[in-house]
Amino acid sequence: METIESDVVIVGGGPAGCTCALYASRADLKTVILDKNPSVGALAITHQIANYPGVSTEMSGEALLTLMRDQAVQYGTDYRRAQVFGVDVSGDWKTVFTPEGTFKARALVLASGAMGRPASFKGEADFLGRGVSYCATCDGAFYKGREVAVVGVNKEAIEEAQVLTKFASTVHWITSNDPKKDDAHAQGLLASPNVQHWSQTRLMLIEGNESGVTGIRLKSRSKDNEEGLTVEGVFVYMSGSKPITDFLGEQVALKEDGGVVVDDFMATTSEGVWAIGDIRNTPFKQAVVAASDGCIAAMSIDRFLNSRKVIRVDWVHS
Ligand SMILES: Cc1cc2nc3c(=O)[nH]c(=O)nc-3n(C[C@H](O)[C@H](O)[C@H](O)COP(=O)(O)OP(=O)(O)OC[C@H]3O[C@@H](n4cnc5c(N)ncnc54)[C@H](O)[C@@H]3O)c2cc1C
Repeated sequence: METIESDVVIVGGGPAGCTCALYASRADLKTVILDKNPSVGALAITHQIANYPGVSTEMSGEALLTLMRDQAVQYGTDYRRAQVFGVDVSGDWKTVFTPEGTFKARALVLASGAMGRPASFKGEADFLGRGVSYCATCDGAFYKGREVAVVGVNKEAIEEAQVLTKFASTVHWITSNDPKKDDAHAQGLLASPNVQHWSQTRLMLIEGNESGVTGIRLKSRSKDNEEGLTVEGVFVYMSGSKPITDFLGEQVALKEDGGVVVDDFMATTSEGVWAIGDIRNTPFKQAVVAASDGCIAAMSIDRFLNSRKVIRVDWVHS
């Protein structure tokens, strides 16, 4: 598998990650953004953003994010779609693991936002890593010719279910609300021959034994009783409001509220690792705050990597 080296690797391509990448690239640092999905972060799902300074009040969050990403790429950022499932922050070179390859950098920036959730379905935590997964691109190939369930109706659930149709014999798609009729991706998924849709249905329990998941129990709104389904994998895609830190293990300190601890320079308790944006569980979760964090981290990283005593400004004197 590919190993890519850079000065800075950023996990997450929201406003925090893209701003950090813009400043780092302009400081001539080789910078990579790893983003699991540009459509599912907090800014990406914001219908209209009327309070980001300097842009049209009619602009959608997704359009603003596209502008931010394009600007970073224009200055040299290497933007890649990849879901990070682990990091190793020991030593001078930080390592980031994704299904697409391994990334090594002298500075690691955590910018994965706060759209996560604690495992809340019965059995979800018990079988995490033993049949329960949050990443079809990481784990889909394990389920070749087997039956799996996908839970959720957001864009990520739809894209990940599409990935699973390439491997699984049947993908049971469980949605508590119906997907939108004008959502071409959802309708495309429903048209796949190996997708069975369980409309207006809730996941009640994930069952299994010492080898892993063996089945699930479902409750349809139109039926009185629960019913059982035999599956070996359950892929859960529900959004919440918890900082996404599951890929970190216990390698950086977290606050009691789950946010990453940082100092004034956005540096975490682990040298060479910064955290920016909603992953800090800031009291004021706003795009402009996330962008500001990204700027601070990039300037601090420039000083760290180049052993500068002072922060170098990024403006043109004329
Ligand atoms: C519904 C809603 C409306 C909002 N409205 C406004 C508003 O009007 N004005 C305003 O200023 N703010 C608004 N906010 C808040 C604002 O969107 C957030 O504060 C901001 O987007 C945080 O930026 P971020 O970069 O930290 O995280 P995010 O924007 O959430 O981006 C995080 C990125 O990390 C990626 N990621 C996550 N996990 C991984 C992983 N394991 N590997 C790789 N990539 C990963 C995600 O795919 C995503 O692209 C709103 C938020 C929501 C939810």
